[in-house]
Amino acid sequence: MPDIALSRLGKVYPGGVRALDALELHVAEGEFFALLGPSGCGKSTLLRTIAGLETPDAGSVSVGDRDVTALPPGERGLAMVFQDYALFPHMTVEENIAYPLKLRKVARRQRSESAARTAAELGLEDLTSRRPAQLSGGQQQRAALARAVAARPDVLLLDEPLSNLDARLRLEARTFLKKFQRELDVTTVFVTHDQAEALALADRIAVMEDGRIRQVGTPAEVFRRPTSTFVASFIGSTPMNLLPAELAEGAVLAADCRLPLPSGAQGQAAGGGEFVYGIRPEYLRWSASPLPDALAGTVSVVENLGSAQLVTMECAGRTVQVVVSEDHDPAPGEPGWAAPRSDRALIYRDGVLVGAEESRVPA
Ligand code: ADP
Repeated sequence: MPDIALSRLGKVYPGGVRALDALELHVAEGEFFALLGPSGCGKSTLLRTIAGLETPDAGSVSVGDRDVTALPPGERGLAMVFQDYALFPHMTVEENIAYPLKLRKVARRQRSESAARTAAELGLEDLTSRRPAQLSGGQQQRAALARAVAARPDVLLLDEPLSNLDARLRLEARTFLKKFQRELDVTTVFVTHDQAEALALADRIAVMEDGRIRQVGTPAEVFRRPTSTFVASFIGSTPMNLLPAELAEGAVLAADCRLPLPSGAQGQAAGGGEFVYGIRPEYLRWSASPLPDALAGTVSVVENLGSAQLVTMECAGRTVQVVVSEDHDPAPGEPGWAAPRSDRALIYRDGVLVGAEESRVPA
């Protein structure tokens, strides 16, 4: 399986939108790689540029040891699954799956055998004579995947592969896709605006903003050590608490509370600038009685998350959210304390993680 190297990619659309800005990226062989970011950050443009559906104004795209920048899509050895699946409505599932092989002038019998095998790999063996309109959303997605992989591409590109499915089916399809990508061992790049999907599926994630990559890392790295407040607030089902802070005598002052200096920021946080203290709701320990070195406040909202609850509290004019286990029973109006895990707390200066270069999270 080849790797993918993007070097100084630039793309400006008519009207002046800079969709890709001197973008550098390396996707390793066989990797399942996510492009994540808010709408309009350039994810689709990047994927389409790898596919050859957009031409960059600057930079290069290499697949394996080939520079494919000037090659048309059909000669790049890759396959793409579109958000709407783009199955041919007048063809059966089998004909759809076999279509790319037909384009490659593979003989009819071989085509049909190959399509049947791929259909079986994707659990579609009983549906091969149906047309797309006779399939459920999940089955259509599998048929589109089958069509993409039937010709055994070197690289698979997926544009928001799960976004057309309802919530439950999405979870099922996610697990299926992850397993299938492993089995196929194909270098895969997928676009999503859904951080949970990126965390769940990808080996590594690139978080994008305004045509640039803000951070590349494993799901654990981007979740635990976002290197900017932008990434910190984008990743996580409940956003990270980000509190304006002052640093004094080896401690942090935030929301009128004195907190221990995060372990990663020891000896790093000197000098001026605007400091922000970051702690995820999952990394705060709840108490209904006073705790030292903790945020103190009053509960304003309690939301049930099933096996836990999301507690919102007001601390000296700041809002702090805490994930609290079912062993506690906080209620609005009551006081509460939330002690941070110092090894998971972070300090940002001017939006950038202090000590980012120094320590790394194991994958
Ligand atoms: P994403 O996939 O992250 O939502 P896109 O890559 O689709 O972002 O778009 C990046 C930026 O480029 C956006 O500001 C979008 O409006 C702009 N854009 C995308 N396609 C075109 C186009 N064909 N012409 C002009 N602007 C475009």
